Amino acid sequence: MDLDTIREVVVARDRADLGTVGVGTAVLAGGTWLYSEPQDGLERLVDITGLGWAPLTIDDAGLEIAATCTLAELAGGAYPARWSGAQLFEQGCSALVASYKIRRTATVGGNVCLALPAGGVLAALVALGGSALVWGPGGDRRIPLSRFVIAPGQTALSEGEVVRSIRVPEANLRARTAFRKIALSPTGRSGAVVMGRHDLDGSCQLTLSAATTRPVVLSFPALPGDGELSATLAGLDAALWYDDPHGTPDWRRHVTGLLAAAVVAELNGVRS
Ligand SMILES: Cc1cc2nc3c(=O)[nH]c(=O)nc-3n(C[C@H](O)[C@H](O)[C@H](O)COP(=O)(O)OP(=O)(O)OC[C@H]3O[C@@H](n4cnc5c(N)ncnc54)[C@H](O)[C@@H]3O)c2cc1C
Repeated sequence: MDLDTIREVVVARDRADLGTVGVGTAVLAGGTWLYSEPQDGLERLVDITGLGWAPLTIDDAGLEIAATCTLAELAGGAYPARWSGAQLFEQGCSALVASYKIRRTATVGGNVCLALPAGGVLAALVALGGSALVWGPGGDRRIPLSRFVIAPGQTALSEGEVVRSIRVPEANLRARTAFRKIALSPTGRSGAVVMGRHDLDGSCQLTLSAATTRPVVLSFPALPGDGELSATLAGLDAALWYDDPHGTPDWRRHVTGLLAAAVVAELNGVRS
């Protein structure tokens, strides 16, 4: 849609061009959300897709994903065969209700910064233990993605800060993973998503999303048994269960328990 409050669109060519991001000026990445609804508080957009960042960089430490990497590039990346955990990229992208056109345009940084409960790419990166490199007026800082989202649409970014990239450690990419999603209709927005990671040292992390107001990571020293899993889920703050037209909190809590059990069973070698 036309954004009739916007007076200027600046295509950033280097870091100095990001200096105006702040009150009244937003980062424009793929624009798939920015152009989908009125942005009455904005007068200027700074387009970061002109910065020319390499979408995916593989090195000994793992994977660096530029904020401007598109969902299609992330899902279709040529990753080392030993990175079994990279399957979460395609699964996280497919958890979004998005056409092929949106997948080719929407960016990883946009999905992370939008901080929607149904942020499938955000959830996959949390599940893989990713951290964001943030550029700001006061310098650079790194934020673990498990602490990046505070509430729906609200992040730990301060005024003027821009996500430059996401780093995913090699050891986590080598972990075995499993994924389950449910929605109220076959092509509907996710109602609950659970992603599991079974690390080489035997520990296990379960990441809950879509059902919760922000991604929630449950850590276990080993794959949890049914009782331990149920008790951990029952101990979560009731306010974490999200309420919107895509599912009630009670339904979301219930199906998350079923999905989490199926994820743990798959990581145990039982496919359900
Ligand atoms: C039909 C449709 C269905 C959708 N379904 C889903 C869904 O199921 N789940 C979901 O999560 N989203 C969904 N979206 C929303 C959106 O398309 C995606 O979240 C997408 O990944 C956003 O990426 P983008 O690059 O287009 O972001 P943009 O629209 O460009 O930006 C989104 C927000 O993030 C900020 N931003 C972007 N990049 C950065 C950065 N590097 N640093 C700081 N701030 C930044 C922008 O200023 C803006 O506030 C949907 C959108 C549409 C139109």
